[in-house]
Amino acid sequence: MSNGQAFDTLQIHGGAAPDPATGARQTPIYQTTAYVFRDAAHAAALFGLKEVGYIYSRLTNPTVAALQTRIAMLEGGAGAVCCSSGHAAQIMALFPLMAPGRNIVASNRLYGGTITQFTQTFKRFGWSTKFVDFDDLDAVKAAIDGDTRAIFCETIANPGGYVTDLPAIAKVADTAGIPLIVDNTTATPWICRPIEHGATLVVHSMTKYLTGNGTVTGGVIVDSGKFDWSASDKFPSLSQPEPAYHGLKFHETFGALAFTFHGIAVGLRDLGMTLNPQAAHYTLMGIETLSLRMAKHVANAQTISRWLEKHPAVGTVTYPGLDTSPYKARAASICPKGPGALFTVQLKGGYDACLKFVSSLKLFSHVANLGDARSLVIHSASTTHSQLTADQQIAAGAAPDVVRLSIGIEDPNDLIADLDQALKAATA
Ligand SMILES: *Cc1c(COP(=O)(O)O)cnc(C)c1O
Repeated sequence: MSNGQAFDTLQIHGGAAPDPATGARQTPIYQTTAYVFRDAAHAAALFGLKEVGYIYSRLTNPTVAALQTRIAMLEGGAGAVCCSSGHAAQIMALFPLMAPGRNIVASNRLYGGTITQFTQTFKRFGWSTKFVDFDDLDAVKAAIDGDTRAIFCETIANPGGYVTDLPAIAKVADTAGIPLIVDNTTATPWICRPIEHGATLVVHSMTKYLTGNGTVTGGVIVDSGKFDWSASDKFPSLSQPEPAYHGLKFHETFGALAFTFHGIAVGLRDLGMTLNPQAAHYTLMGIETLSLRMAKHVANAQTISRWLEKHPAVGTVTYPGLDTSPYKARAASICPKGPGALFTVQLKGGYDACLKFVSSLKLFSHVANLGDARSLVIHSASTTHSQLTADQQIAAGAAPDVVRLSIGIEDPNDLIADLDQALKAATA
């Protein structure tokens, strides 16, 4: 979905024309459950997917639709489906691809909640996950078997410091004939557009940078429109007749929009993980300033990571923009505008110093969130990653002696002053 306009224009105008009924310049919040049919024939056509339109807000809503179009444009995708959270987006992305007995191959560097979802909850659907070090391409290839239906990774892996070699992983997925799903939450499309590197689907927790101020829980799946769902018999939900729509074949009927239509007409209809229009409104507002915020997030992260690295109480700082990061060169090619604003800091005082540091910070908020305008901190090992084994914690960059920082857009000198006093308290 592209009209040739630049990112800074699309983030304000993408998907949003003046309201046809009232001329309202800002996208209205269509706070309605249902939509009046023109006549019985119109209703029948909508229900049979013969005509596209609004039926019921579990499936489609004009405020949500504006947001879907805007994000699809920013990511360079064919279409997008919004849903109620980032975790809902992951289920919604995999739902059309999976069945009992099928598996996915996922990076072992992922958001802690995602590892738990993929390990525990997926089991109940009969799905399984093979976690692999995505720097070891032979291991990724070896993990793919006849039941693998997707490869999953994050662009900049939470809790920060790691950038995935997307083009290399996309090549592996392409050779195996399976889709690559990339969680682009911590990068945002301003920093990286995974579809340009070969991703099939992009998922986001809109809860984070897209909304940008810690007000909303939301998710989105963007489809590149480039995957050939009919090339094998692996994806019958998209390539074979759908009984609930009179035997309609999504791929044959909707082409590049097959995944998007399936996500709405089957995924939202039956899983019901719908985004509400009020939340869509907040996220539309947030995205209007995405490029401005991300540039400041990145500049602050660069300044603060450099300062922290020189502090005597600090061991390793993982920001991929630092010369000391093993991922600096990869970050520069995949995230040329800067590798986000999320990284971990190792404290020489270990676990206890981390807890003291976190409770001494005043400007930084101790919360289980990231991608807020305000700076945030968390000790992952005792919170978000506490359900993982010690080995999983270390593999995920959440060892007991590190804290994760999500750098906000405040004045960097005030943030440094806060970090300085908390480091003093932690080492006293
Ligand atoms: C927060 C987050 C999620 C989960 O999103 P929710 O909106 O909290 O459900 C998934 N992936 C990443 C990288 C995240 O940061």
